[in-house]
Amino acid sequence: MHPKDCIFCKVIDGVIPSTRIYEDEGFICIRDIHPQAKVHLLVIPKAPIASLEEVFPERGENKAALLGQLFDVAAKIARQQGLLPGGFRSVINTGSLGGQTVFHLHLHILGGEPLRGSFG
Ligand code: 5GP
Repeated sequence: MHPKDCIFCKVIDGVIPSTRIYEDEGFICIRDIHPQAKVHLLVIPKAPIASLEEVFPERGENKAALLGQLFDVAAKIARQQGLLPGGFRSVINTGSLGGQTVFHLHLHILGGEPLRGSFG
């Protein structure tokens, strides 16, 4: 369930200030407030979707097309930010056991320095 008191909805609406580096009809991209790499960006769909679980619900409409758009935007931003062709890491944390802390779907883009080939 998408929370009523959603931090990223407030970021999208401009109620919570952020460093917005990209915006189109469906997405925004901001700098993460606690960067885990030299470059740490968040690509956030404007649609109120809590997590990947809601993109592929057990019942109801599958929103798979949104993920294609999300990665398309991410690659575009990575190019604009000089992360490509070198490379970057993209991460979607899903659910509390997956490390998700903000329950509004978002893609992390990490890079700007060599990243270790490990997780966690
Ligand atoms: P998650 O843990 O849900 O995958 O990622 C949430 C991310 O949002 C975290 O990396 C956290 O630092 C970032 N974050 C949380 N609140 C804010 C905020 O108000 N502004 C920005 N720019 N980032 C935030």
